[in-house]
Amino acid sequence: MIDLKEQTRLSLARPFQLLIDGRWTDVESGEALDVVNPADGGIIARIPAGGGADIDRAVIAARRAFESGPWPSMIPGERSRMLWRIADLIEARKEEFAELETLDNGKPIMMSTWVDVPASVAALRYWAGWCTKIAGETRAVDLPGEFLAMTLREPVGVVGLITPWNFPLMSAVSKLGPALAAGCTIILKPAEQTSLTALRLGEVILEAGVPPGVVNIVTGLGAVAGAALAEHGDVDKISFTGSTAVGKSLIGAARGNLKRLTLELGGKSPTIILPDADLKRAIPAAANSIFLNSGQICVAGSRLYVARERFDEVMEGLVKAAAKFRLGPGLDPATTMGPLVSDTQRRRVMDHIDSARGEGASIITGGNRVGDQGYFVDPTIICNVTPQMRVAREEIFGPVLVATPVDDPDELAALANDTEYGLSASIWTRDISAAYRLARKIRAGTITINTGSVAGPNLPFGGFKQSGWGRENGADGIESFTELKTVVTAL
Ligand code: NAD
Repeated sequence: MIDLKEQTRLSLARPFQLLIDGRWTDVESGEALDVVNPADGGIIARIPAGGGADIDRAVIAARRAFESGPWPSMIPGERSRMLWRIADLIEARKEEFAELETLDNGKPIMMSTWVDVPASVAALRYWAGWCTKIAGETRAVDLPGEFLAMTLREPVGVVGLITPWNFPLMSAVSKLGPALAAGCTIILKPAEQTSLTALRLGEVILEAGVPPGVVNIVTGLGAVAGAALAEHGDVDKISFTGSTAVGKSLIGAARGNLKRLTLELGGKSPTIILPDADLKRAIPAAANSIFLNSGQICVAGSRLYVARERFDEVMEGLVKAAAKFRLGPGLDPATTMGPLVSDTQRRRVMDHIDSARGEGASIITGGNRVGDQGYFVDPTIICNVTPQMRVAREEIFGPVLVATPVDDPDELAALANDTEYGLSASIWTRDISAAYRLARKIRAGTITINTGSVAGPNLPFGGFKQSGWGRENGADGIESFTELKTVVTAL
């Protein structure tokens, strides 16, 4: 087990407060939430349980910063420098951010250190580059006379960012980056299970010189602070990542002032292995796709379809790959699979596994809680599943793979699409034409061919069907934080 860095211990010892209008402030109600270490169930910190009054204060500050503060009209290069500075400051505190993320979420320290923190830094630098590139167009006017017609991209206004617990810092940054680059002002509501890195990010944002009120951070329960933010009449847009159920509830909440919504929701993504696939690459990728981050990845390849003639070989390889994961506390550098984020999540995952058992499916490996401390579930592979079983239909968000042999390759697109979700799919074959044909038939936002998940701030990301509304990342991502205005001048 690694010893926490001095900086991390100091960071945990300092009180966690809300960031409103450029100042750290106590929650109005005085209430707090325990922060639980999922590796052992111990309490590592307390965070403010923000409520409606705190959201009101944050929205007032963000509105003032938007209407009369320097941020939206600041020259783009200056905004860009601040975003870059935030990235530099996170990088300078990278060990603290990685350790806080691992303590809070449970994920292996190797992952926080080599994925979560550097990817967050890289994303901020990517968004820093966008500040100077947001542009409108000139348009022809099809009327008699002489006109100059153009479109302007203006910041959408005050935005609420609601983020989940599986990649806490990365989710916060992937919304903050484009929102800041576009000139919006922000209220960030991180997931109550994992708010520590978001709160420390607030310190870095102040240190970088971002003006008061531009970024406000209110922690608290989703049903309280999150709902108050989503319903607030003076918030212009909500960008949400989380479950499909909560995403649907936000549609009602947004109704009052018709606020804009971007929804990044759940998935039940297929991995498809055709008979000619290179199994040396496909098997480890399929295993990582469902077992990394303990399966708590929205694009996890949770349904596997394999050509029947290769099915046994693939299963044998996957069982071996599952056995190689070393479960343990995230702070142990040897750990490759940490606990699930919470006891609630552990119960949810075990309930799915038990339902598969009850419905007659076969658990070919795993299927158990591990240890009686912390929230560990071992890598689990389930076969003999029918398409109607809960385990085949619902998002589990745990290390649980459902595998099905397929006789007729012409059925693959229909099988892949047999879900209410449409976030991603992965296809393995040496026949690139077959892969493209299948990719075009699958209704999902991201399709990978002969690779596991590939994501980045420049690759549009989002879902078809009930996996969401809109896209994050790239030009589409930043445009979702703007309004388009048409200006026509008679010459
Ligand atoms: P969740 O929907 O319960 O919570 C997500 C966020 O919403 C949290 O900040 C939570 O506090 C807040 N929230 C909860 N209830 C709310 C309400 N009534 N009003 C406003 N906000 C509310 O989801 P979760 O359990 O934290 O996260 C797991 C889910 O997120 C999975 O379903 C997963 O697929 C999804 N997810 C999707 C993506 C994506 O990009 N598509 C990425 C990560 C996670």
